[in-house]
Amino acid sequence: MVQLQAAIRQVLDEPDLDASLTAIVDAICALGWRRAVLALYSDIDEIKVLFTSGTVDEPPVTAGAVIPAAIWQRYLDGDLAAYRVSGLYYIPQGQPGNAWQRDDLVFAPLRRGQGPVLGVIRAEQPVSGERPSPETLRPIDILASQAAYLVEHARLLDEAACSAAVMADQIEELSMIRQADRELSSHLDMEHVITLTMDWALRQAAASTGLLCLMTDNKKGLVPYIKMGYLLPDVLNWTERNPWPLDRGAIGRAARTGEVQIVRALDMEAGAYYFIGEDSRAQLCVPLVMRGEVLGVVTLESNDDAAFDAHTSNFLERLAQRAAVALDNARLFRQSEQLADDMAVLYSAGRAITATLERDEVLKRIAQSMAVALECSSAMILDYQPERLEAQVLVVYRVGTARNSQEVLPPLKTVLPLGDYSTLIDALARRRPVILRAADAHTPAMELDLMQQMGVQAMMLMPLVAQEEVVGLALVIEGRQDRVFSPNDIFKAETLGSQASVALRQALLYNEVRELEKLKSEMIRMASHDLRNPLGNLMGYVELLDMSFRRTGKTSEQDEFLNNVRRSAKIMQSLIDDLLTLERVESEREAQWQVFDLGALVYEVVEAARSSANLKRQIVRLERAATGTLAYGSVTQLRQVIANLVGNAIKYTPDEGQIEVSLSGSDERLEVIVRDNGYGISPERQVRIFERFYRAREPGTDHIVGTGLGLSLVKTVVERHSGQVWFESTPGVGSAFGFWLPPAPPQGRTNRDRA
Ligand code: ADP
Repeated sequence: MVQLQAAIRQVLDEPDLDASLTAIVDAICALGWRRAVLALYSDIDEIKVLFTSGTVDEPPVTAGAVIPAAIWQRYLDGDLAAYRVSGLYYIPQGQPGNAWQRDDLVFAPLRRGQGPVLGVIRAEQPVSGERPSPETLRPIDILASQAAYLVEHARLLDEAACSAAVMADQIEELSMIRQADRELSSHLDMEHVITLTMDWALRQAAASTGLLCLMTDNKKGLVPYIKMGYLLPDVLNWTERNPWPLDRGAIGRAARTGEVQIVRALDMEAGAYYFIGEDSRAQLCVPLVMRGEVLGVVTLESNDDAAFDAHTSNFLERLAQRAAVALDNARLFRQSEQLADDMAVLYSAGRAITATLERDEVLKRIAQSMAVALECSSAMILDYQPERLEAQVLVVYRVGTARNSQEVLPPLKTVLPLGDYSTLIDALARRRPVILRAADAHTPAMELDLMQQMGVQAMMLMPLVAQEEVVGLALVIEGRQDRVFSPNDIFKAETLGSQASVALRQALLYNEVRELEKLKSEMIRMASHDLRNPLGNLMGYVELLDMSFRRTGKTSEQDEFLNNVRRSAKIMQSLIDDLLTLERVESEREAQWQVFDLGALVYEVVEAARSSANLKRQIVRLERAATGTLAYGSVTQLRQVIANLVGNAIKYTPDEGQIEVSLSGSDERLEVIVRDNGYGISPERQVRIFERFYRAREPGTDHIVGTGLGLSLVKTVVERHSGQVWFESTPGVGSAFGFWLPPAPPQGRTNRDRA
């Protein structure tokens, strides 16, 4: 018992399983057996490890011979219950008696409960030579169960260690994916997202070469985006225009099917695979799939035939799923950015289009905006006559930088019959754009013929529709090379098209309005002229009447009546004059504007006014800068402005008053001031003097004839010339009216260019 305790303690002290089991067999020997054998079985019942202790004459046990096979089988079948002595078996052979026989068998299976048989311990030849009793067998039993415990424990530990390793792997993977998630979702920069993905993929798969291809916009092929490791130069030649075709290799297959592909050189004939690296032996292609749509393919290659096990590809698939989400986000972000850019382009194009109301100018800008926004070589606008199924060329615009384009565009006013072109008729009927490409096998023969005649490679035809009506056609033309129009291009063209349609319609309306304006001016002019003659007659007869009265003598009452008629006729005359002037000023077009010397104009007006000033014995002084007084605008209108101001100064200043006219100029402005020492205007009336038909009546000014139109015309004209009017006035002291204008811009440029 002491020996047993010592043995067990020793076993427990041993940290290592082998040493413990060795200690156990040693202990059995020490307990009075010549030899002890301990065998550990593998899962398939083969002896895995063998521990022996002691010496016997018998040949050393070999694998499979620890327990005779037949007996072992009977044990496994449960046939040896009769020989069982608690945990072990004692099978005496041959004769009865107490003496140990050669073939006597003592063994203890190593097993925990109903668990698998882990091994066996056999004890041979008791030193005493006597057959064992249950008491002598008991320590073996104890040691055997100890051994079974140790082995089982070790096995569990082993398993735990194994699963701990697996778990550590899983944890690392998970944290990588988590990190990926975090990184991917916090970045909208596509380049960053993709580089990260590739880096993880390469690291995880221990690959030597990596390539991430993105699907082209038209989904017809793949374009390399991120390259890692050494790639065959061929791969780098794939571009947006000439992408890696989807029917080529495992990369194409992955893109086509959305499924992971693994290719090994070992399994394939040379040439049956398309590796992207020179020494590659295995290739893994993982598609990036989002909402059922393949966005791209990650391709990894290794020089190791056995690379890319199921576990790795599984991991990469999961990584790819996440990357696809991020890629999609980045793509959406990029699209919205692109959209914002496009909007800016469209907005400025729209402004350019709507900035003018002249029809041909509008059309030219539409054509230009379309060609430029779609990066095409030219654009045309045609007028559409639905009754005759004809279109007439109104505007042709060719992009200046598209020098090597081949298209021959029809001259202006050419009439194109559309009846033969089914696609065009269809586009017009559906009011939808249609795209024609010479390289497209589906392009109908007639259309193809037309395109060949015109040297056009690709074009988009866009019906211009306003208020449910096709008002025209826009053709965006590419004459340099084949061109695929993306949905975004169509969107841009449609947006420009709709703005163009509105502008076109506005131009039509504007023309109508202008016609009406013309009519109105015509009528005012006619009415005024028609009034002028009878008024002239009226005034003539008043004078005749006056003369005949002079012969016969007239009463003071008759004299007063005549004066009243004269006055009224004068008022009517100045009304007609002012109306005509106003009309002339308003209908005058900017096309008649010019650079002129404001100084000379002021001089001319002042000199013309001198005679009426002389009648009132007033003094008119003119002071003006000798140079730097060039202005840009309408001479007629500004002459009227100055004449009105000088005329008012003479009118509203009593006899023998003084009038000063001055003109000064600087880089910023030219200023004209007319100052008088006349009646002045009281503050409460000052606020209204620029209103049409407003007349401020001050004490002493009742007799002065006027229409109240002069100053309103001054204000209108000056402001139309980007200038400003001002005045200051004190009743009984005098007034100063002034205005300033910007000086004429440097030679060759007009105000409008500058704006
Ligand atoms: P009108 O035909 O009456 O002169 P205007 O529009 O030229 O019409 O002027 C509006 C009113 O402003 C005039 O009726 C007059 O009362 C006042 N006014 C204009 N110029 C002067 C001036 N230099 N001094 C005093 N009052 C003036």
